[in-house]
Amino acid sequence: MAKRVGFIGLGDIGWPMAVHVAKTYACTVWNRTQAKADAFAKAHAAAAVGGPGAVVAASDVVITCLPTSVEVLDVVKQADKAWREGQLLIDCTSGDPAGSTQVADFLRARGVGFADAPVSGGVGGAERGELTVMIGGTEEDAARAIDVVQCFAKKAEYVGPVGAGHAVKAVNQGLLAINIQAAGEGLAALVKLGVSGKKALEVINASSGRSNVTENLFPKRVTTRAWPRTFRLALLDKDVGIAVKILEDNGVPSDAIGTAKRAFSAAREALGEEADHVEFVKMIERSAGVEIV
Ligand code: NDP
Repeated sequence: MAKRVGFIGLGDIGWPMAVHVAKTYACTVWNRTQAKADAFAKAHAAAAVGGPGAVVAASDVVITCLPTSVEVLDVVKQADKAWREGQLLIDCTSGDPAGSTQVADFLRARGVGFADAPVSGGVGGAERGELTVMIGGTEEDAARAIDVVQCFAKKAEYVGPVGAGHAVKAVNQGLLAINIQAAGEGLAALVKLGVSGKKALEVINASSGRSNVTENLFPKRVTTRAWPRTFRLALLDKDVGIAVKILEDNGVPSDAIGTAKRAFSAAREALGEEADHVEFVKMIERSAGVEIV
C-alpha cells in the first residue's frame, strides 16, 4: 500500500478529494495559487510545498486534478528530475486520451506508472467519499491506482488501456450536457404552456424521461434559482469537445453530442469562465423569455 501520496490541484473537486487522501495517507500538496495549498495543509495535517517537483520528491504516488491534460503534461514535465522508478501518477483530471498517452509515454521512459482516473459524482460525491472513478492504464498500474482512490470512491472500475478512463468520462459528459440542454428546452416550453417547472419535474421524475439532471440538478438549482458554482461550465464545454473528438476519430456520427458542444461553447462565451455548468439553462430561459420555476 502506498504510504505517501502527493496531490496537485486543489480546485473545486480536487480539494475535497485531497481531504480523503490526507486522512488516509501521509500527504504532500501543491497548488498553483500557493495560499490554497497552505490553507489546505493547515486544515488537514498535510505538507504544502512550493512546486510539482517537491510533491513528486516527497511521494510514492502522485494524484493530479487539473483542468485539462495540457496542464497535467506541463506539471509532469516541470517535475522532470524528481520522478523515480516505481512511482505512479494517478491523473484524476477529466483529460483527453491523446494527452494521457503523451503523459504515460513521458513517465514510462522514467520507469513511472500512469493511470488516467477521472471521477464522477460532483463536489458532494467527493465530500462524501462516494465518487465513481473510471480507470485506464496497464492492469498492474490500474490495480495500484484502484487501491489508492478507494479513499474517495464508492466505485473504482478498470475500463481499458491508457486513455480509456478519459474516453468513458468524456462520453458521460456528453450525455450530461445533452440532458441539461434537452431538459432546459422542454421545461421552458412547459412553463410557457402554464405548467410549473416544479410540477413538470415531479411528473417527469416518475416517468421514463427522468435523469440525474431532472432528479437532482434542476430541482436543487434551477427551480430554486440557487445556481451554486460546483463545476464550471467551461470544464463541461471542454469535456464535450473531447467527446466529439472521440466520436469523430472513430467514424461515429456526432449529431447529438455535436449539437450540445456548439450550444455549450456559445454559453461559455456568453457566461464566462466562472459560470457553473447548470447556468447553461439561463441561455435557454433568455431565448424563451421565461424562468423555469
Ligand atoms: P477548478 O477550475 O476548480 O480547479 C482547477 C485546479 O487546477 C486549481 O487547483 C488550479 O489552480 C489548477 N490549475 C489551473 N491551471 C493550472 C496550471 N496551468 N498549472 C497548475 N495548476 C493549474 O477545477 P475542478 O476542481 O472543478 O476540476 C478539476 C478537474 O476535475 C477538471 O478536469 C474537471 O473537468 C474535473 N471534474 C470536476 C468536477 C466538479 O464537480 N468540479 C466533477 C468531475 C470532474 P488555482 O487554484 O491556482 O486556480
